[in-house]
Amino acid sequence: MKEIICAACNKGCRLSVDSDLYEVSVSGNECALGRDYAVSEYTNPVRTATFNVRVRGGTAAVVSAKTDRPVSLAKILPASRLLKKLYVDAPISEGQVLFSSLLGEKIIATSSVEKADNNE
Ligand code: SF4
Repeated sequence: MKEIICAACNKGCRLSVDSDLYEVSVSGNECALGRDYAVSEYTNPVRTATFNVRVRGGTAAVVSAKTDRPVSLAKILPASRLLKKLYVDAPISEGQVLFSSLLGEKIIATSSVEKADNNE
């Protein structure tokens, strides 16, 4: 059995989740949303992942970024490792797609970085 705090609304019900070969059972939920949340957390937890991506030729060394949707936790560490080997060129605008398919996920900038003035 696994205990989960439901984050589907701000009431924060304490859920208990268990499974056998055939089904996942949930208790402690006060509504159907909570059951769906618990099943998702138990079988395939997802999060919106955030990263820092290296920038080449910019006024900052890195730009903050995130996945455009919640992704499986199993993808986040491999994506983070891959991003450490990559960089993007400045200028970068907030909301810009930095990578359209990194492990199948879209990575977008959450801040802007200006192009560095080479005359300084
Ligand atoms: S079970 Fe329902 S009421 Fe309870 S926290 Fe989750 S969404 Fe809210």
